[in-house]
Amino acid sequence: MRGAFLYAPGDVRVEERDDPKIIEPSDAIIRLSATCVCGSDLWPYRGIEAVEGPSPMGHEYVGIVQDVGSQVTNVKPGQFVVGSFFASDNTCPICQAGYQSSCLHRQPIGAIGAQAEYLRVPLADGTLVATPDIPSDDLIPSFLAASDVLGTGWFGAVAAEAGPGRSVAVVGDGGVGLLAVLAARKLGAERIIAMSRHEPRQRLAIEFGATEIVTERGDAGVARIKELTGGLGAHSVVEAVGTQESMLQAIRSTRPGGHVGYVGVAHGVELPGTELFFSHVHLHGGPAPVRRFLPELIDLIWTRQIDPGTVFDLSLPLEQAAEGYRAMDERRAIKTLLRP
Ligand SMILES: [Zn+2]
Repeated sequence: MRGAFLYAPGDVRVEERDDPKIIEPSDAIIRLSATCVCGSDLWPYRGIEAVEGPSPMGHEYVGIVQDVGSQVTNVKPGQFVVGSFFASDNTCPICQAGYQSSCLHRQPIGAIGAQAEYLRVPLADGTLVATPDIPSDDLIPSFLAASDVLGTGWFGAVAAEAGPGRSVAVVGDGGVGLLAVLAARKLGAERIIAMSRHEPRQRLAIEFGATEIVTERGDAGVARIKELTGGLGAHSVVEAVGTQESMLQAIRSTRPGGHVGYVGVAHGVELPGTELFFSHVHLHGGPAPVRRFLPELIDLIWTRQIDPGTVFDLSLPLEQAAEGYRAMDERRAIKTLLRP
């Protein structure tokens, strides 16, 4: 089969690799209908994370089950399934508490590589959720979004306790930030402030439910959020970038007693203890337990109540993965869908 590898920063190649096989009796093999490039794939692509290439890439996937191991009972060949970036058993105490991305037996899909034609999914019973039937083609981007970018934005909004009567601010206008806007809207927030200085992203934020746009960032962004919220700061702030500047911007934009949901993968973030102590802000985040939300998200997509698939503004054949990375790196694309 064909699959994408990162050889070195900026060097993505699609090459022949072995077809995956069932290794453990809890595995499933799926034929990917679509996969995509994640904002977090850009960290190694930009050399900010070490690359020990050639590394298989990709951790977002939807597809048709081809084969299952002898222990798998929840999914069967022929079903269309959605999974997320950590395989999880969904039975251990941590999974049962809703934190499947910290499952005691978790396995990262990124190490296996979902930017490919086929994927071996470990712990298939706990990881994969089937749709009610084979979806029509126009729904596939939305189901793919549920695999990570929507699931992560959703967790950011839940962790920030977005809901009725609360003001929500979103730091970050990548796919996750934009879909955190959609999540906040669906969770009942009436006032949603998207922080973005890029016109196409502002437009999408408004389409997803943002009521205001703030173009300032850093201290000026914080001042603007306070100005819009009676000098108090927002009740709920989603941090969807992962840098020192964005994290402090999120904390400082939150009113005392408010909540920050941080889902940007942190790189070099150090929190000032004294400021945090006096901020009275709740911090909750981390790698999103997307599996917790998959049944609900699949239902919302299947019944066409949400359309998160519009976050993909570039669609390419898998063979052109390198261009997909480049377009996102240069911010010419918000998110690239790859068709195996
Ligand atoms: Zn578990």
